[in-house]
Amino acid sequence: MPPTQRTAVDILKILDKSNCKKCGCPTCLAFAALVVQGKKKLRECPHLNEEAIEALGGDVAKKEEKVEDRRDELFDRLKAEIPQVDFEEAAQRIGASVNDERLAIPCLGKVFELDRQGNLYSECHVNAWVHLPLLNYTVRSTGRELTGEWLPFGELEQAKDWARFFSWRCERGMKQIIDEDPDFFFDAMSLFSPSPVGQKTGKAFSTSDHAIVVYPMPRVPLMIAYWCADQEFESKLTLFFDRSAEVNLGAESIYLLTMGIVEMFTRIFSTHGLDLTGETPRGT
Ligand code: SF4
Repeated sequence: MPPTQRTAVDILKILDKSNCKKCGCPTCLAFAALVVQGKKKLRECPHLNEEAIEALGGDVAKKEEKVEDRRDELFDRLKAEIPQVDFEEAAQRIGASVNDERLAIPCLGKVFELDRQGNLYSECHVNAWVHLPLLNYTVRSTGRELTGEWLPFGELEQAKDWARFFSWRCERGMKQIIDEDPDFFFDAMSLFSPSPVGQKTGKAFSTSDHAIVVYPMPRVPLMIAYWCADQEFESKLTLFFDRSAEVNLGAESIYLLTMGIVEMFTRIFSTHGLDLTGETPRGT
């Protein structure tokens, strides 16, 4: 899957626009459109250098291909482990409860339930993006208490390999959503049961214009800190996690989960058509 933030115009800008057809497309614009759709790779244009590919997230696309390749395998492995999980013990460990033989896990203000076979149910429709991270959280989370120490994703010890990709795919994507209308975004976040950030002193987020904490998983809070643009500087966004996040979920699952949240927010906020009961924008 290509990075969703790239547009055909972004890509066209770096092509040499000779319409030479060496990529198999009749024009550079047709090639750009197919790259956006994930049907062509930037490297198929022989005129692009590595620097240009890098600038448009080519490495991100490669990394995502690798993640996609192993996502199904990881999903099947985790699902197969669910029947061996003691739900009562897991509920204590991960901040969930047991409801009628199902593990009920709060997620962004909704409840998602896992059955003994690892199938997922929810009061809103189930999103694929949350299923794998929830399985991982249930099977592998250590249940470490929150430390109260907020770190940018890249400062989590196991996240180093993922930091660039997280920055491109997750932080850049979420910033673009918020840039459209920051006040609306942060008002609307009340739908996801946020909690206050508390005293904003002595931390990297202390100067932010907006900062909220939401809970994609009970023991994996996510802080969204946003600095509005002014005459001198562009807007800025950093996503912070509690230091315990890497042992309560793991870097790869945090990456997948946050990517899924960004995709969900993109759909919800794309036209301000906010559906208060779930993730489906009005008018779609
Ligand atoms: S190979 Fe590159 S320059 Fe040639 S048509 Fe395709 S995109 Fe355009």
